[in-house]
Amino acid sequence: MTTTAQQRSVVVVGGGMIGCAVAAALRVRGHEVTLCEGATTGGEASFAAAGILGPQLEHDEDGPAVDLGLAGRAATLAWVRAIREETGVDIELGAPGALVKAMDDDDARALERRVTWQRARGLRAEWRADAREAFFVDDTTVDTRAYAHGLAALARRRGARVLTGVPVTGLLRDADGVRGVTLADGDELRADHVVVCAGAWSTTVPGVAEAASLPKGAVFPVRGQIVELVGPPGLVPTMVYGGKGYVVPRRDGRLICGSTMEKVGFDKSVTAGGVKMVLEKAITLVPAVAELRVNATWAGLRPATLDGLPLIGATRTPGLLLATGHLRNGVLLAAITGELMGAILDGERPELARVGDPARLAR
Ligand SMILES: Cc1cc2nc3c(=O)[nH]c(=O)nc-3n(C[C@H](O)[C@H](O)[C@H](O)COP(=O)(O)OP(=O)(O)OC[C@H]3O[C@@H](n4cnc5c(N)ncnc54)[C@H](O)[C@@H]3O)c2cc1C
Repeated sequence: MTTTAQQRSVVVVGGGMIGCAVAAALRVRGHEVTLCEGATTGGEASFAAAGILGPQLEHDEDGPAVDLGLAGRAATLAWVRAIREETGVDIELGAPGALVKAMDDDDARALERRVTWQRARGLRAEWRADAREAFFVDDTTVDTRAYAHGLAALARRRGARVLTGVPVTGLLRDADGVRGVTLADGDELRADHVVVCAGAWSTTVPGVAEAASLPKGAVFPVRGQIVELVGPPGLVPTMVYGGKGYVVPRRDGRLICGSTMEKVGFDKSVTAGGVKMVLEKAITLVPAVAELRVNATWAGLRPATLDGLPLIGATRTPGLLLATGHLRNGVLLAAITGELMGAILDGERPELARVGDPARLAR
């Protein structure tokens, strides 16, 4: 393990994919890390996600968010290898490629434009005019639950102390800034830095919104419902996407169909209307799935921000950093977020992190 001259102590709040990736990346830089998870690692949004690594399939324009997503896809593939080597956890990658179907004429024009600018930038993408669909060659998927488990195992294997079942109840502060956290069991943990990775709950952790100069609802939940179907393996060879719906195949024949985008607070119910919408989208994209058995349904809360972009970086209060607000892209961006937080904590100013600078939303 490479160690830096300035080893610091860091408390990571939240043990979803983002918190575990941050903990694992900080250990590589030699920092002493304690991760505090209120329940179980990877049990919230990180458990619910479909696992699409799709920086190309959704963006209408080029820009810093695309750069971050492309770096995220590359980092995820490297981390999947690192997790296998360092922990033995094998994470299933989906067949490469994302098939995106146009839903109407406007959608077809937008999709064709997307393929055009991406090819001009040197990215691999094909426009199939007859079928009115695009194929993004390098977008892919990952088995989310295995990846969340692998990230937690990596953080532990690299020497992070991982506490579960201990919600953080507040921040310890002194005149110089944030100096640690208080825990629900009455303990205090002192540290040079606190990185808040509490997903949709990030600005509900007492003291965080104030110390970060953010409005209380700067990070808020957006519910997504999923229906899992089971069919013969290979029925859907690659992920199919369109009209904000998708069908993501796993190797064993499961098909993850999603999803809704609902602002209903911290309510994780699966609803009749949500299931109907998800299945209608799935059947439109791949009519054959209408015959398949429903295996499971679930819902998760995506961490959203006021401008739809993540919060990655230092806040106005020394010692307090944020890594949250990844909305629909937390799986894609977990590994790169870990790498960027490591760089930021060591005083570097990575260009890729600028799009996530919390200062843009600070009051
Ligand atoms: C239906 C659905 C589909 C999705 N599909 C994709 C996809 O295909 N691709 C993609 O890239 N992204 C996808 N996402 C988004 C992705 O799941 C999230 O962006 C990502 O999981 C966020 O990770 P996180 O670690 O920030 O949050 P979470 O996984 O929610 O973790 C936050 C953790 O913080 C803990 N916590 C909260 N409060 C406290 C406290 N006070 N003290 C200690 N711990 C606390 C919670 O218990 C939780 O474990 C999807 C999300 C949903 C819901």
